[in-house]
Amino acid sequence: MTFISKIDEKNIDKEEIKKQAEILKQGNTVIFPTETVYGLGANALDENAVKKIYEAKGRPSDNPLIVHIYNKNQVNELAKDISQKAHLVMDKFWPGPITIILSKKDIVPSRTSGGLDTVAIRMPSNVIARELLKETNLPIAAPSANISGRPSPTRGNHVYEEMNNRVDGIILGGDCTFGLESTVLDLTNDLPIILRPGSVTKENLESVIGKVEIDPALENKDDNIKAKAPGMKYKHYSPNADVFIVCGDEKKVAKRINNLVSENNIKELRTVTLCLLKNKSLYEGDTITLGENLEEVAANLFNALIMADKEKYDIVYTESFPKIGVGRAIMNRLLKSAGYKIIEA
Ligand code: AMP
Ligand code: MG
Repeated sequence: MTFISKIDEKNIDKEEIKKQAEILKQGNTVIFPTETVYGLGANALDENAVKKIYEAKGRPSDNPLIVHIYNKNQVNELAKDISQKAHLVMDKFWPGPITIILSKKDIVPSRTSGGLDTVAIRMPSNVIARELLKETNLPIAAPSANISGRPSPTRGNHVYEEMNNRVDGIILGGDCTFGLESTVLDLTNDLPIILRPGSVTKENLESVIGKVEIDPALENKDDNIKAKAPGMKYKHYSPNADVFIVCGDEKKVAKRINNLVSENNIKELRTVTLCLLKNKSLYEGDTITLGENLEEVAANLFNALIMADKEKYDIVYTESFPKIGVGRAIMNRLLKSAGYKIIEA
């Protein structure tokens, strides 16, 4: 049985938070909203609790977890060799959608860090997540609350449908503002490296800590170039439908997709196109609009992929987006959900 709490972030029911915090303190699992995606949490310092996260998600055990904290002082309990750049990033971007990788202290079980000698730490800004973390007074390991490989949930109803009865508690707390998982920044060396792009962009980071590199493996589907962030090697963000990214000039993209849709109709394959609101009228078949700008696309993308599955589409075509700002994170997730299948219009 899963204990469900519905919490309004504008009027937080502290009693419900207490009940869910108690579940975590007893070494069990609770799903809660964050500003990125919903997280599936357990006490990061308790190996048995952390094991339950991997079981609930069906996650490979070498894929490390992000540890969520309420208070910056907790970083000192979990990590060592904290550089000046790490302090600058924490001061500027926390609480918020960026995770930092630091050398771990022994207190962090190797199950939490996927066997690595580093630990990933984040201070979320979502007020429900903050209340819960404050109440538990524990560092909480929390990967995205999806079955491994599936798109991450950004809406309460999707969490409930996918995870009810797989965890001990669920807090339903509305839609996630950013909608893509946090930026992951490796700060264990002098030159910081982005291991996973997110809403805090390379440009945002460089304005605070100078030169930042992007892990070259991120934009390459060749498995021989090994991703530095372990989780990035796995199949990810995949709906049941076959996803294709269609790139090129807007009008050509629409024409190409319309042609493909009529071919699919003949084959009795159900097709949907993900597009910007302004392009909707260019498409003849079914569409799901992603919004008007890159921030809205980020917030709506996983929801759109999950909707495509619920509506039982066989094929999803999506427009492509410029790799600037949060566009880089959007394209990273899209390329993975499409298994790198790109159609040039
Ligand atoms: P999730 O919580 O599902 O968004 O996944 C967390 C991701 O953070 C992992 O899949 C890794 O890509 C990354 N990560 C977590 N811990 C580490 C670490 N110690 N070193 C490098 N990457 C990490
Ligand atoms: Mg995930």
